[in-house]
Amino acid sequence: MDKIAQLQQIFDESNKIVFFTGAGVSTESGIPDFRSVDGLYNQKYKYPPERIISHSFFKSDVEEFYRFYKDRMVYPEAKPNAAHLKMAEFEKAGKSLGVVTQNIDGLHTVAGSRNVYEVHGTINKNYCMKCRRFYSLQDIMAKPGVPHCDECGGIIKPDVVLYEEGLDDNTVMGAIRAISQADCLVITGTSLVVYPAAGFVNYFGGKHLVIINLSATSSDSQADLVIYGKVGEVLSQIKVNA
Ligand code: NAD
Repeated sequence: MDKIAQLQQIFDESNKIVFFTGAGVSTESGIPDFRSVDGLYNQKYKYPPERIISHSFFKSDVEEFYRFYKDRMVYPEAKPNAAHLKMAEFEKAGKSLGVVTQNIDGLHTVAGSRNVYEVHGTINKNYCMKCRRFYSLQDIMAKPGVPHCDECGGIIKPDVVLYEEGLDDNTVMGAIRAISQADCLVITGTSLVVYPAAGFVNYFGGKHLVIINLSATSSDSQADLVIYGKVGEVLSQIKVNA
Protein backbone atom coordinates (compact mmCIF):
# COMPACT_ATOMS: atom_id res chain seq x y z
CA MET A 1 0.00 0.00 0.00
CA ASP A 2 1.40 3.43 -0.83
CA LYS A 3 1.83 6.05 1.88
CA ILE A 4 -1.19 8.15 0.88
CA ALA A 5 -3.41 5.04 1.08
CA GLN A 6 -1.93 4.23 4.50
CA LEU A 7 -2.62 7.78 5.66
CA GLN A 8 -6.19 7.58 4.36
CA GLN A 9 -6.73 4.32 6.27
CA ILE A 10 -5.39 5.85 9.52
CA PHE A 11 -7.69 8.88 9.14
CA ASP A 12 -10.67 6.65 8.33
CA GLU A 13 -10.26 4.65 11.53
CA SER A 14 -9.54 7.68 13.76
CA ASN A 15 -12.18 9.92 15.35
CA LYS A 16 -10.11 12.13 17.64
CA ILE A 17 -7.40 13.41 15.34
CA VAL A 18 -5.17 16.25 16.59
CA PHE A 19 -2.86 18.17 14.26
CA PHE A 20 0.32 19.59 15.81
CA THR A 21 1.59 22.20 13.37
CA GLY A 22 4.53 24.54 12.83
CA ALA A 23 5.75 27.14 10.37
CA GLY A 24 6.02 24.56 7.55
CA VAL A 25 2.22 24.36 7.33
CA SER A 26 2.14 27.98 6.15
CA THR A 27 5.04 27.94 3.65
CA GLU A 28 2.57 26.90 0.92
CA SER A 29 0.67 30.11 1.80
CA GLY A 30 3.82 32.12 1.03
CA ILE A 31 4.99 32.63 4.65
CA PRO A 32 8.65 31.62 5.11
CA ASP A 33 9.48 29.25 7.96
CA PHE A 34 12.57 29.68 10.15
CA ARG A 35 14.83 26.70 9.52
CA SER A 36 14.42 25.64 5.87
CA VAL A 37 17.21 26.65 3.45
CA ASP A 38 15.22 29.67 2.27
CA GLY A 39 13.77 30.28 5.76
CA LEU A 40 14.35 33.38 7.85
CA TYR A 41 17.32 31.94 9.74
CA ASN A 42 19.28 31.64 6.52
CA GLN A 43 18.87 35.27 5.48
CA LYS A 44 21.13 38.09 6.58
CA TYR A 45 19.99 40.61 9.19
CA LYS A 46 21.80 43.02 11.48
CA TYR A 47 21.07 40.56 14.34
CA PRO A 48 20.05 36.88 14.28
CA PRO A 49 16.22 36.60 14.15
CA GLU A 50 16.06 34.68 17.45
CA ARG A 51 17.73 37.64 19.14
CA ILE A 52 15.41 40.23 17.54
CA ILE A 53 12.26 38.37 18.51
CA SER A 54 13.26 38.05 22.16
CA HIS A 55 11.78 39.84 25.15
CA SER A 56 15.04 41.58 26.04
CA PHE A 57 15.48 42.86 22.47
CA PHE A 58 11.89 44.19 22.46
CA LYS A 59 12.75 46.11 25.65
CA SER A 60 16.11 47.44 24.43
CA ASP A 61 15.46 48.24 20.73
CA VAL A 62 11.74 48.30 19.99
CA GLU A 63 12.28 50.25 16.71
CA GLU A 64 14.47 47.49 15.22
CA PHE A 65 12.10 44.84 16.62
CA TYR A 66 9.13 46.36 14.79
CA ARG A 67 11.13 46.91 11.61
CA PHE A 68 11.87 43.16 11.46
CA TYR A 69 8.45 42.09 12.78
CA LYS A 70 6.35 44.10 10.31
CA ASP A 71 8.67 43.25 7.43
CA ARG A 72 9.32 39.53 8.06
CA MET A 73 6.81 38.10 10.51
CA VAL A 74 3.50 39.55 9.30
CA TYR A 75 1.91 38.57 5.97
CA PRO A 76 -1.51 40.25 5.89
CA GLU A 77 -2.25 38.98 2.35
CA ALA A 78 -1.57 35.28 3.17
CA LYS A 79 -4.49 32.90 2.71
CA PRO A 80 -5.03 29.40 4.16
CA ASN A 81 -3.75 26.60 1.93
CA ALA A 82 -5.01 23.05 1.32
CA ALA A 83 -3.47 21.85 4.61
CA HIS A 84 -5.24 24.42 6.82
CA LEU A 85 -8.51 23.80 4.96
CA LYS A 86 -8.35 20.00 5.23
CA MET A 87 -7.64 20.18 8.98
CA ALA A 88 -10.69 22.44 9.42
CA GLU A 89 -12.77 19.99 7.37
CA PHE A 90 -11.81 17.12 9.68
CA GLU A 91 -12.94 19.13 12.70
CA LYS A 92 -16.23 20.10 11.04
CA ALA A 93 -16.91 16.43 10.26
CA GLY A 94 -16.48 15.57 13.97
CA LYS A 95 -13.26 13.63 13.29
CA SER A 96 -10.77 16.03 14.90
CA LEU A 97 -10.34 17.50 18.37
CA GLY A 98 -8.55 20.46 16.81
CA VAL A 99 -5.17 21.96 16.04
CA VAL A 100 -2.27 22.72 18.36
CA THR A 101 -0.11 25.22 16.51
CA GLN A 102 3.17 26.97 17.08
CA ASN A 103 2.21 29.40 14.31
CA ILE A 104 1.29 32.99 15.00
CA ASP A 105 -0.25 33.72 11.60
CA GLY A 106 -3.87 32.88 12.54
CA LEU A 107 -4.45 30.93 9.30
CA HIS A 108 -5.97 27.87 11.00
CA THR A 109 -8.77 30.08 12.33
CA VAL A 110 -9.25 31.80 8.97
CA ALA A 111 -9.54 28.31 7.41
CA GLY A 112 -12.47 27.54 9.74
CA SER A 113 -10.88 25.54 12.56
CA ARG A 114 -12.58 26.31 15.90
CA ASN A 115 -10.45 24.45 18.44
CA VAL A 116 -7.11 26.10 17.77
CA TYR A 117 -4.52 26.19 20.55
CA GLU A 118 -2.09 28.91 19.47
CA VAL A 119 0.66 28.14 21.94
CA HIS A 120 2.87 31.00 20.70
CA GLY A 121 0.03 33.51 20.46
CA THR A 122 -1.21 35.37 17.39
CA ILE A 123 -0.33 38.44 15.34
CA ASN A 124 -4.05 39.28 15.29
CA LYS A 125 -4.14 40.38 18.94
CA ASN A 126 -2.12 43.34 20.18
CA TYR A 127 -2.31 45.16 23.50
CA CYS A 128 -1.11 48.48 24.89
CA MET A 129 1.48 47.61 27.52
CA LYS A 130 0.27 50.46 29.72
CA CYS A 131 -3.56 50.42 29.62
CA ARG A 132 -4.14 46.97 27.97
CA ARG A 133 -6.33 48.43 25.20
CA PHE A 134 -6.78 45.95 22.32
CA TYR A 135 -5.58 46.65 18.77
CA SER A 136 -6.09 44.59 15.62
CA LEU A 137 -3.29 43.67 13.22
CA GLN A 138 -4.62 46.27 10.77
CA ASP A 139 -4.43 48.93 13.53
CA ILE A 140 -0.76 48.34 14.27
CA MET A 141 0.26 47.92 10.61
CA ALA A 142 -1.38 51.29 9.85
CA LYS A 143 0.79 53.01 12.45
CA PRO A 144 4.26 53.82 11.12
CA GLY A 145 7.26 52.40 13.03
CA VAL A 146 6.58 51.52 16.67
CA PRO A 147 2.80 51.52 17.29
CA HIS A 148 1.63 53.64 20.23
CA CYS A 149 -1.71 53.58 22.03
CA ASP A 150 -4.29 56.20 20.92
CA GLU A 151 -5.55 56.49 24.52
CA CYS A 152 -2.43 56.67 26.67
CA GLY A 153 0.58 56.73 24.32
CA GLY A 154 1.94 53.41 25.67
CA ILE A 155 3.79 51.00 23.38
CA ILE A 156 1.59 48.34 21.79
CA LYS A 157 2.95 44.78 21.97
CA PRO A 158 1.81 41.88 19.79
CA ASP A 159 0.28 39.00 21.78
CA VAL A 160 2.94 36.61 20.52
CA VAL A 161 5.29 34.68 22.77
CA LEU A 162 8.80 36.06 22.30
CA TYR A 163 11.91 34.10 23.23
CA GLU A 164 12.48 34.35 27.02
CA GLU A 165 8.71 34.65 27.63
CA GLY A 166 6.43 32.04 29.16
CA LEU A 167 3.44 30.41 27.45
CA ASP A 168 -0.16 31.09 28.45
CA ASP A 169 -1.25 28.50 31.06
CA ASN A 170 -4.79 27.98 29.76
CA THR A 171 -3.62 27.50 26.18
CA VAL A 172 -0.96 25.03 27.29
CA MET A 173 -3.48 23.05 29.37
CA GLY A 174 -5.95 22.93 26.47
CA ALA A 175 -3.23 21.83 24.05
CA ILE A 176 -1.98 19.07 26.33
CA ARG A 177 -5.53 17.90 27.07
CA ALA A 178 -6.33 17.64 23.34
CA ILE A 179 -3.09 15.75 22.57
CA SER A 180 -3.53 13.34 25.46
CA GLN A 181 -7.15 12.57 24.39
CA ALA A 182 -6.26 12.08 20.71
CA ASP A 183 -6.40 8.69 19.00
CA CYS A 184 -4.24 10.01 16.14
CA LEU A 185 -1.61 12.74 16.30
CA VAL A 186 -0.34 14.29 13.09
CA ILE A 187 2.87 16.28 13.54
CA THR A 188 3.51 18.49 10.54
CA GLY A 189 5.57 21.45 9.34
CA THR A 190 7.75 21.65 12.41
CA SER A 191 11.42 21.05 13.13
CA LEU A 192 10.36 20.09 16.71
CA VAL A 193 13.21 22.06 18.25
CA VAL A 194 11.36 24.94 19.95
CA TYR A 195 10.61 24.03 23.58
CA PRO A 196 8.44 23.69 25.57
CA ALA A 197 5.97 23.40 22.64
CA ALA A 198 7.86 20.52 20.97
CA GLY A 199 7.61 18.53 24.22
CA PHE A 200 3.78 18.56 24.12
CA VAL A 201 3.80 15.70 21.60
CA ASN A 202 5.12 13.45 24.38
CA TYR A 203 1.65 13.58 25.99
CA PHE A 204 0.25 11.54 23.09
CA GLY A 205 -0.75 8.03 24.12
CA GLY A 206 -3.15 7.21 21.27
CA LYS A 207 -3.00 4.69 18.45
CA HIS A 208 -1.44 6.40 15.43
CA LEU A 209 1.44 8.86 15.30
CA VAL A 210 1.91 10.38 11.85
CA ILE A 211 4.62 12.77 10.66
CA ILE A 212 4.25 14.80 7.46
CA ASN A 213 7.31 17.01 7.04
CA LEU A 214 9.77 18.08 4.37
CA SER A 215 12.77 17.10 6.50
CA ALA A 216 13.46 14.56 9.26
CA THR A 217 12.33 15.21 12.86
CA SER A 218 13.31 13.75 16.23
CA SER A 219 9.94 11.91 16.42
CA ASP A 220 10.27 10.04 13.11
CA SER A 221 11.52 6.83 14.73
CA GLN A 222 8.41 6.64 16.97
CA ALA A 223 5.89 7.25 14.19
CA ASP A 224 3.64 4.64 12.52
CA LEU A 225 3.85 6.58 9.28
CA VAL A 226 6.35 9.20 8.10
CA ILE A 227 5.74 11.09 4.87
CA TYR A 228 8.47 13.42 3.61
CA GLY A 229 6.63 15.94 1.48
CA LYS A 230 4.64 19.15 1.39
CA VAL A 231 1.70 18.90 3.77
CA GLY A 232 -0.69 20.83 1.49
CA GLU A 233 0.09 18.49 -1.41
CA VAL A 234 -0.26 15.42 0.85
CA LEU A 235 -3.52 16.39 2.56
CA SER A 236 -5.18 17.52 -0.67
CA GLN A 237 -5.09 13.83 -1.72
CA ILE A 238 -7.00 12.80 1.41
CA LYS A 239 -10.79 12.44 1.72
CA VAL A 240 -12.63 13.25 4.95
CA ASN A 241 -14.86 10.21 5.46
CA ALA A 242 -17.12 10.70 8.47
P1 NAD B 1 10.81 25.68 11.70
O1 NAD B 1 11.06 26.77 10.71
O2 NAD B 1 11.83 25.43 12.75
O3 NAD B 1 10.64 24.31 10.90
C1 NAD B 1 9.75 24.20 9.81
C2 NAD B 1 9.69 22.74 9.41
O4 NAD B 1 8.68 22.59 8.44
C3 NAD B 1 10.98 22.20 8.79
O5 NAD B 1 11.27 20.95 9.39
C4 NAD B 1 10.65 22.08 7.31
O6 NAD B 1 11.31 20.99 6.71
C5 NAD B 1 9.17 21.84 7.34
N1 NAD B 1 8.43 22.33 6.19
C6 NAD B 1 8.59 23.49 5.48
N2 NAD B 1 7.66 23.60 4.52
C7 NAD B 1 6.88 22.48 4.62
C8 NAD B 1 5.75 21.99 3.91
N3 NAD B 1 5.21 22.68 2.90
N4 NAD B 1 5.21 20.81 4.27
C9 NAD B 1 5.75 20.07 5.29
N5 NAD B 1 6.83 20.48 6.00
C10 NAD B 1 7.38 21.68 5.67
O7 NAD B 1 9.37 25.92 12.31
P2 NAD B 1 8.78 25.56 13.76
O8 NAD B 1 9.18 24.21 14.18
O9 NAD B 1 7.33 25.91 13.71
O10 NAD B 1 9.52 26.58 14.74
C11 NAD B 1 9.64 27.93 14.42
C12 NAD B 1 9.01 28.89 15.41
O11 NAD B 1 8.83 30.11 14.71
C13 NAD B 1 7.63 28.51 15.88
O12 NAD B 1 7.63 28.68 17.23
C14 NAD B 1 6.66 29.51 15.24
O13 NAD B 1 5.95 30.19 16.25
C15 NAD B 1 7.50 30.57 14.63
N6 NAD B 1 7.19 30.88 13.21
C16 NAD B 1 5.89 30.98 12.85
C17 NAD B 1 5.55 31.26 11.53
C18 NAD B 1 4.08 31.34 11.18
O14 NAD B 1 3.28 31.69 12.04
N7 NAD B 1 3.70 31.00 9.93
C19 NAD B 1 6.55 31.43 10.56
C20 NAD B 1 7.89 31.33 10.97
C21 NAD B 1 8.18 31.04 12.32
